[in-house]
Amino acid sequence: MRKIALIYTGGTIGMRQNKHGKLAPMDFESVAEKIPALKLLPIEIVPVTLDRPIDSSEMVPAVWQELATVIDGLMDRVDGMVLLHGTDTMAYTACALSFMFKGLRKPIIMTGSQLPVGVLRTDAVENIVSAFEFAALADEKGNAVIQEVAIYFEYELLRGNRAYKRSSNEFNAFSSPNYPKLASSGVSLSVNDDLLWRSNDSYSLDTRLDNAVGVVTLYPGLDFSGLPALTNWKVLLLRTFGAGNAPKSVAFLEFLKRVEKNGTIIVNTSQCVSGAVLPGLYDSSSALEEVKMLNAKDMTFESALVKSMILLGQGLSEAEFHIKFPLSLSGEVSN
Ligand code: ASP
Repeated sequence: MRKIALIYTGGTIGMRQNKHGKLAPMDFESVAEKIPALKLLPIEIVPVTLDRPIDSSEMVPAVWQELATVIDGLMDRVDGMVLLHGTDTMAYTACALSFMFKGLRKPIIMTGSQLPVGVLRTDAVENIVSAFEFAALADEKGNAVIQEVAIYFEYELLRGNRAYKRSSNEFNAFSSPNYPKLASSGVSLSVNDDLLWRSNDSYSLDTRLDNAVGVVTLYPGLDFSGLPALTNWKVLLLRTFGAGNAPKSVAFLEFLKRVEKNGTIIVNTSQCVSGAVLPGLYDSSSALEEVKMLNAKDMTFESALVKSMILLGQGLSEAEFHIKFPLSLSGEVSN
């Protein structure tokens, strides 16, 4: 029988109304009690709960580090993990785990729900049960079929570092616009084997990160002359328009020069969730060519942000950062 850890971090899936009428996380036993289907699975479940289950909007990098360390401690004892997590920042956590672990040979399947587990019409039960089934999938040699961090939601298994939360009210809450789904669940589970991540690295965990990353979203009317270039930004993600476009304005160029002068690495990431940054396509974007700028290509915003934190944590020089950022570390970017 496959042995799968069930790690509960919080999120709507395990919430109920508190005395103020607000949704707050309940303890793990109460969550498990509400899913009798767990007992019917032909899987040995190892329950694990973080010290304090949280609403995932309270997520901080220190919790990613704690979570990764907990997972690392379980790695030899189980065949895979199911991670219950709030949907709000699930994609960020998926990115963090996918970059912290190298050479994963076991699945880390994240899931949650839009309605709490005890509520009529909840999506929690299907999500948890299918997440377990994917976590327990093995080939004829007994190796895990999924060997990466994935998000299971509403009949689809997505690569975690390619997904983002697209809806706060539909059950189909996640989307992976730049990479096809890894698998789907219908009457049976159907896996797209060719799309699965396989690593040649040996297994390791590195939880270092540095959150000195700034974000500026361009919009018509943004006053660049009044926009400070903060000296504590080691990386600035510039959320440009469309295929990585920006205005041709002197104030914008001066802002970029101020940022560059601080030694901040600038990354061009588009506000569009689908498609890639294609620098140099439009004349209007010529200011972007006046400074040294990295291109997030078709990475999600979540992925570009967390990858920046992870690479900064590794203490890379600017030149090393420029070499490593565009590379695919765990399937987050197309070549
Ligand atoms: N606020 C909740 C959370 O992210 C939302 C959810 O789980 O769907 O923890």
